[in-house]
Amino acid sequence: MKITLTKLIFIFALSLITGCKNEPSTKLVDRGIPNLAEALKDKQTHSFEKGDTPKNVILVIGDGTGINQISALQYYKDGAIHYEDFPIIGLSKTSSTSLITDSASAGTAMACGEKTFNKAIGVNAQGQDLLNLTELMSQKGGSSGLIATSSITHATPASFYAHHSDRNDHEIIASFLPESRIDFFAAAGLKYFNDRNDQVNLIDTFVQKGFIIETRSLKAYPEAKKLGYLLADKDMPKMIEGRGPFLEDASKLAIDHLSKNEQGFFLMVEGSQVDWGGHDNDFDYMISELIDLDNTLGSLMAYARKDQNTLIVVTGDHATGGLALSADNGDYNTIKPSFSSTGHNADWIPVFAYGPGAELFSGVYENNMIFHKIKALLSDQK
Ligand code: MG
Ligand code: ZN
Repeated sequence: MKITLTKLIFIFALSLITGCKNEPSTKLVDRGIPNLAEALKDKQTHSFEKGDTPKNVILVIGDGTGINQISALQYYKDGAIHYEDFPIIGLSKTSSTSLITDSASAGTAMACGEKTFNKAIGVNAQGQDLLNLTELMSQKGGSSGLIATSSITHATPASFYAHHSDRNDHEIIASFLPESRIDFFAAAGLKYFNDRNDQVNLIDTFVQKGFIIETRSLKAYPEAKKLGYLLADKDMPKMIEGRGPFLEDASKLAIDHLSKNEQGFFLMVEGSQVDWGGHDNDFDYMISELIDLDNTLGSLMAYARKDQNTLIVVTGDHATGGLALSADNGDYNTIKPSFSSTGHNADWIPVFAYGPGAELFSGVYENNMIFHKIKALLSDQK
């Protein structure tokens, strides 16, 4: 049987080669980009020069968003996804002082530039406070904003303003926010500010510090000097439970607010709940959060394309759930997404970049280098 099959394959291959010889090459169809001029107009290229530096930096973090999550998004969202709009792609290695990171140490690596222990918020492996990107931006006279679909005290956003050894101490982390260099925030977590064990009302502290705090809706306050939205007690609702376009709308409000500063701004936008869909092994939950994040990317890219002075870096802190996009029982026309764990993964994580300085984000590097690349670009402004 084996020999017969081999012979058959040989004869088939030979007939293919013979066939090719007889067929004129004009029958081959090239559906690629016809010429260099067309290629240069393609969305994959961009017009920034090597050595350009941005005035503004937007860092978008999909919590629990690895390459399989992004691939799934591409298969399950109608139309092209905005991740495809980015001309520069790199890969980051996400280990903390453990082989597999949590969101606190990964957030701290990106916000503060050092690998640290899981659960650490803005402190290094020795527990010392680390300068973060929002503090750096403030030293330059710029403004900073944070947006998340979790509590603002959750690990990822917390890494950008707090310094504490345990991500689970939400009330301690909350007390850092009114004292921080944050000028705009939109997220959940109201109860950590106004219903605390120590009876301190941090909403009053915010007002003393010059904030307008809004707890009902994303109402605009164009006159506000500092602006904070705390729109749910603990976490924002899931997309599949009717959150709506909070992430995209808050991003637009943040840019309206922060771009008033002539010295520039830093904005971190987190799709927090992609990770939670992964932990729950709930594909519909995960994909709806990814679609929401991708819609937000579309808005942010539209701003950056118009502004031409804003760097956008889009990445994840780690992948979650061991997502696989395998063929359904051998049917190569059907994908059956499956999860292999309820925890985090050790995968390399893609980094997408557009704007002045974007080329720094190509290649393979450790996740804490994201901080150092942004810092270098902000420190080297002409
Ligand atoms: Mg997070
Ligand atoms: Zn997680």
